[in-house]
Amino acid sequence: MTTADIEDLAELLAAAERVVVFTGAGISTESGIPDFRSPGGIWTKMAPIEFQDFIGSADMRKEAWRRRFAMEEMFASVAPNAGHKAVAELVARGRASHVITQNIDNLHQDSGVPEDRIIELHGNTRYAKCLDCGARAELSPIRSHFEKTGEPPDCQFCAGMLKTATISFGQSMPEIEMARAESATRACATSFDCTASAVPLFCSS
Ligand SMILES: [Zn+2]
Repeated sequence: MTTADIEDLAELLAAAERVVVFTGAGISTESGIPDFRSPGGIWTKMAPIEFQDFIGSADMRKEAWRRRFAMEEMFASVAPNAGHKAVAELVARGRASHVITQNIDNLHQDSGVPEDRIIELHGNTRYAKCLDCGARAELSPIRSHFEKTGEPPDCQFCAGMLKTATISFGQSMPEIEMARAESATRACATSFDCTASAVPLFCSS
């Protein structure tokens, strides 16, 4: 992002009645979270586990949980950076109505953006969900069970399959979040594309 881009963005923000912030991996790399998709990213070294494989194979489920817990120290220790804080400030001041994010790291929540202002298109890796009943499950008891028995536990409510609350390759996009993202974005008229940076914004003026 050049200085001119930043000035353009500031002007748009000043003039906009309604702003929606859209974030991707770039905003979190400064917090120490690797960009999975980029050249050299995790997925170029280790193929992601597709949803159908997760559903269909106990070994794949174990591998998915092994990988997730291997990243737990990293996810548990990262903190929001200046970019997240700037976004949180836009929301706190009422300048931005929503933050739509492709990130799964919970750093917008950690930076103080209220949960109801955040639309997570790819879910959240900081907790798990039951694929059958949708109940939320915390990772730390899942990890204890997994490390003790070598197997992930079943949902405590319906004995269904637990998975991190992320959207995997091959899994359908979440309908409610997609609809919320569409309506928030449609409420804005123009867009400022700074996709070269971390934070594209949709603004109406
Ligand atoms: Zn369940």
